[in-house]
Amino acid sequence: MSKVFEKSPAFFDTFERKPSMQKTTHYCPGCGHGIIGKIIADQLAELGLQDQAIFVGPVGCGVFIYYYFESSAVSSAHGRASAVATGVSRANPDAVTISYQGDGDLAAIGTSNAIHAANRGENMIVFFVNNNIYGMTGGQLAPTTLIDQVATTAPYGRSIKNDGFPLRMAEMMAGLEAPTLVARVGVNNPRNIRQATKVIKKGLEIQRDKKGYAFIEILSQCPTNWKKEPKEACEWIDEVVSKQYPFGVFKDLTEEREAVERPCKRVEFAEVAKQLGLVETAASDSKQLEMAHDEMHFKFAGFGGQGVLSLGMMLAQMSMQRNMEVTWLPSYGPEVRGGVANSSVVVSKTPIGTPVVDNPNVLVALNRPSLEKFGPLVPEDGLIVYNSSLIDQIPADLKCKVYALPATDLASTVGTVKAANVVVLGFIARKTGMFELADLEVFLCETFKKPALQEVNLKAVNAGWQAAGNL
Ligand code: SF4
Repeated sequence: MSKVFEKSPAFFDTFERKPSMQKTTHYCPGCGHGIIGKIIADQLAELGLQDQAIFVGPVGCGVFIYYYFESSAVSSAHGRASAVATGVSRANPDAVTISYQGDGDLAAIGTSNAIHAANRGENMIVFFVNNNIYGMTGGQLAPTTLIDQVATTAPYGRSIKNDGFPLRMAEMMAGLEAPTLVARVGVNNPRNIRQATKVIKKGLEIQRDKKGYAFIEILSQCPTNWKKEPKEACEWIDEVVSKQYPFGVFKDLTEEREAVERPCKRVEFAEVAKQLGLVETAASDSKQLEMAHDEMHFKFAGFGGQGVLSLGMMLAQMSMQRNMEVTWLPSYGPEVRGGVANSSVVVSKTPIGTPVVDNPNVLVALNRPSLEKFGPLVPEDGLIVYNSSLIDQIPADLKCKVYALPATDLASTVGTVKAANVVVLGFIARKTGMFELADLEVFLCETFKKPALQEVNLKAVNAGWQAAGNL
């Protein structure tokens, strides 16, 4: 009894996704994902497979599984988890490869990836979490949505004429020759959870014994997008969902299957380079940049359209030309539409561990939300440049040196407000001491080929450079 409520040893002790959520997952209350995770973790621990397990995560509500399981994990692009898992499995024949995918991920954008992995009989187990809807993105119609079920993109319900029939993935997979185990289970009541536990254990044993491909579809309640109370959502699975998607073991060839060996020849990088005809180039004569730290972290933030992504790109390219290690990480998504867009740039003398910038040495904030969001994260020895043409109030909790640069006004005087980002480039180049004005001018002339653009950008960078001398 108590074991059921204990945290599985295959989970991390604390979940580091958010400081406020170290003991809980990100799933909505009543969601089936949490139960599925617990079953998988318990079975991995019981079979002693935790250290061998490599999870391949999807895009969807399961995207954060790497925060929960204390095993190896890889994230994949939308729908590509089965393809990525194929690579993981082939390159790590001793691993237990686990692809964890939802119905939008596996049965829509990733259908072909999933079917071909199954048809090859890869050594992997696929957990297909079917809640008949796109969960993470807010309840759009999925290939698994039930007939007449309402979704945000099907306000009158799914129609067969318009959207076709709900896709029964388990039955499709069972029709293939290669899979060893194909089943559909549920996690909506204790009886189904017991059955799901048995099947999941069997699927993991198949992986332990290298007996090929296992596909376990799990009907999972999504109270949020079904707009039901958790209890009602669990009942709806038995009363409605399982009529379209019946539970069962559709194929089980565990006893008759032999272990599938796919020896993987490890290829060293030098061999790959040789095959690609890559040759080592002589080191460039240009000197590395002088910087306040061996690794500098930059954050450029503002509204979408203010050129913060290209500002970061320009700094990254100039640094790369000076033999520095560089990363450039843009943040798009909904933030671009009127919110805060940003790019993170790391410039380093040595290889860079991560492109993520949490505490920038230099923050450029072109609008107020950016200054409020990132300003307090800049350490005491850092610097902040904010666009004083648009920001009239600065947060009280800034710790470092702060410069008010009227970037938009200066850009306007040289011909266009669009050049505000280049004004900033001139300013930070001088303030950080990383580049000379002549470096900037050469770079801009190489970047902007049209004379009119060259002229305005050269004026803009000069305006920023002069402002840095005066402030
Ligand atoms: S949206 Fe649905 S599937 Fe996603 S976490 Fe919430 S309840 Fe679970």
